[in-house]
Amino acid sequence: MQQLSEERRMIKEAARQFAIERVLPVANRLDPEKGAIPRDLIDEMAELGYFGILLPEEYGGLGLGAFEYCLVAEELSRAWMSVGSLIARGNGLIGALKQLSPEQKALYLPRMARGEFLGAFSLSEPNAGSDVANISCRAVRVGDEWEITGNKYWCTFADEADFILVIARTDPQIDPKARHRGLSGFLIEKPRGALPAGVQGSPIPKIGYYGWTTWELAFDRCRVPASSMVCEEGKAFYLATAGLETARAHTAARSVGLAQGALEDAISYARERQQFGHPIGDFQAIRFKIADMATQIAAARALLYSVCEKIDSGVRCDTEASMVKLFASEMSERVTSEGLQIHGGAGYTTHFAAERYWRDARLTKIFEGTSEIQMRIISDSLLGKPAR
Ligand SMILES: Cc1cc2nc3c(=O)[nH]c(=O)nc-3n(C[C@H](O)[C@H](O)[C@H](O)COP(=O)(O)OP(=O)(O)OC[C@H]3O[C@@H](n4cnc5c(N)ncnc54)[C@H](O)[C@@H]3O)c2cc1C
Repeated sequence: MQQLSEERRMIKEAARQFAIERVLPVANRLDPEKGAIPRDLIDEMAELGYFGILLPEEYGGLGLGAFEYCLVAEELSRAWMSVGSLIARGNGLIGALKQLSPEQKALYLPRMARGEFLGAFSLSEPNAGSDVANISCRAVRVGDEWEITGNKYWCTFADEADFILVIARTDPQIDPKARHRGLSGFLIEKPRGALPAGVQGSPIPKIGYYGWTTWELAFDRCRVPASSMVCEEGKAFYLATAGLETARAHTAARSVGLAQGALEDAISYARERQQFGHPIGDFQAIRFKIADMATQIAAARALLYSVCEKIDSGVRCDTEASMVKLFASEMSERVTSEGLQIHGGAGYTTHFAAERYWRDARLTKIFEGTSEIQMRIISDSLLGKPAR
């Protein structure tokens, strides 16, 4: 397996220590009761610089790359995927804020690097999931302001974030051949613990990814200043896709972390649990499951590292990023399911984290582009786009 540099090994080890000592006990306590990630834990992550890994040093960030970002994400997700996901709420929303003006960068990024300005991303809608270009939420210019009206779905962290980045249609003329044009992004600042004025919301009853709430939002003539527009008017599709390679690598890292947690817990349980007078880890059926789990994780991690190297050296790798997202998330569901199986009935209770890894791994196949969408991207790159 690829050797990590000394610096990367230390970053990974520090993240692992934080995850095991600080995050895991909180996850084991709060996930079963659907509690929120505590603010003091978020503050500790901020002190470690985890919200500024990808931000330039001139804005107070660590100025590191996708590789380091994914190492941290993997370790945090080994303990609780929601915490591994939270770092994407800083870090320039992984590429989405790359196109900020110099004034906006100076205003937002230092606070973001300090963990004082964390965001929610509101892209998806009831009828715009995989088909992002189908966004119908509208923004209309009224004097010095924009007025946003429409329904959004699946906005995670909308309540506790310091801002919501909303994608809305500013050009009502939809070109059927280029539906992705005419979308714009608005950064709406808001108080923590509340939704912006002009926005109503209700929590979506999900089956995992606890620690924060995912919202259905209704924008009703929500007024925002013209200065809240990020990127050029009508070009938000590129803003939404700017950091996709890193975002997909991040999801692969989360998948690997979950699978690693499942493996470590399965090994402990296999050593302790006795049946037929032996630890179940003596039975070949269990031993081979563990061997298979470890091998699948190693393969996904190796692919992840190679994709991260490409991203950081500026080589375009959207196909490889889709491959690792696909491979790692599918792997994670299989491996976490086997981890649960090794726990027998105990795995089907909330007394063990095995069920959490499995529920959360299930989601990695859905968000950040479903497995089917990744396969579509990969096959299009190999075969060319089909005539539709
Ligand atoms: C817990 C959770 C949190 C989320 N958080 C956020 C968030 O913070 N912000 C945000 O904007 N979004 C968020 N999302 C939304 C997420 O990105 C979407 O759920 C995802 O993109 C899939 O869209 P969809 O749910 O509408 O499924 P659909 O697009 O309706 O897909 C349904 C099925 O059809 C398949 N399918 C669709 N199109 C094709 C095609 N062309 N070819 C083959 N198969 C196809 C899909 O793969 C899937 O199996 C979140 C989702 C979840 C579940």
